[in-house]
Amino acid sequence: MKPLPCPFCSDPDPAIDEVELRVWALVCNGCGCTGPIEDYDNAKQSPERAVELWNRRGGDEQPASEPVPEMIPGTLEALASIGATLRK
Ligand SMILES: [Zn+2]
Repeated sequence: MKPLPCPFCSDPDPAIDEVELRVWALVCNGCGCTGPIEDYDNAKQSPERAVELWNRRGGDEQPASEPVPEMIPGTLEALASIGATLRK
């Protein structure tokens, strides 16, 4: 199985890396992101499994960055009124 291009930076050739003893993950040469890692005690650990997990990501999974907090309704209005108060 061949790894798909990086879902984040489209690097076409992510490397299979043994990130820990007998734990494999795909590592992107472009943006440096590391693919999903199988549970450490999972007996299915293998480079092929790492590629499988890598290929399955993207689409419904998001990059491992901080989630954008939802704007609380009324926040902008509240800030605007505070600003208006301070300018008085
Ligand atoms: Zn990448």
